[in-house]
Amino acid sequence: MTVEILSKEEIEKVRTANRIVAEALEYLKEFVKPGATAWDLEMAVREWLKKNYPNARAAFYGYRGFPAYLCVSVNEEVVHGIPRKERVLKEGDIVSIDFGVEYYGYYGDSARTYKVGEVDKNVERLLEGTEKALEEAIKQLYPGNQLENVAKTIYKTLKRYRLYPICKYGGHGIGRKLHMEPFVANCPGVGPKMKLKEGMVLAVEPMAGLKTAKTLELSDGWTVITWNRTPAAHFEHTVAITENGPEVLSKLD
Ligand code: MG
Ligand code: MG
Repeated sequence: MTVEILSKEEIEKVRTANRIVAEALEYLKEFVKPGATAWDLEMAVREWLKKNYPNARAAFYGYRGFPAYLCVSVNEEVVHGIPRKERVLKEGDIVSIDFGVEYYGYYGDSARTYKVGEVDKNVERLLEGTEKALEEAIKQLYPGNQLENVAKTIYKTLKRYRLYPICKYGGHGIGRKLHMEPFVANCPGVGPKMKLKEGMVLAVEPMAGLKTAKTLELSDGWTVITWNRTPAAHFEHTVAITENGPEVLSKLD
């Protein structure tokens, strides 16, 4: 396994790509409302990207045949949801939006789970805990630390919120490609053992279920759901490991 080390100049390019992703996720916020469909979000981002960043390419579109710019995963959908016209958002739903772009050869990737209006207090805990797991995991991204501590932190944090860490999927190295080594696990004992170094760029993406960690893949070949159709959440940031510690690249300041 080789993990690429990026120069400071390259990290700036990854930052630019991630900034586009962050702006898009922020822009999409206003489209998340009762009555909107998953496909409306897809249409909104397509127009937005064409208008604002015509030289950016949606990284998921065509990736192993994926048919959309966004992954839109509603309620029981964990990740990789294909945005559909039939999926209508309603008050109390949650929707994860995952977006990636390539910009002049470098990639950005980030995701968040949004609330559609007011949600149940347990669903609130699901979102809070999963986002907290990401926040805590990011703190582990400093040179010399073990990658395994990222997984341990995500797992422990999710458990603290009485959530079910989803171990089957996880994060990845990112930079000149969307998905690179290493696998960034959400649970201990799953990913490779290695030391983090300055210049590595990782997408960290905890996923959790409110009542289960067991997942199924739908016959569309993409959409991952919880087996008992209870809700799940997903948050993701692209983070550079620098001499000064972690630097989140997919955040608007
Ligand atoms: Mg992603
Ligand atoms: Mg990712």
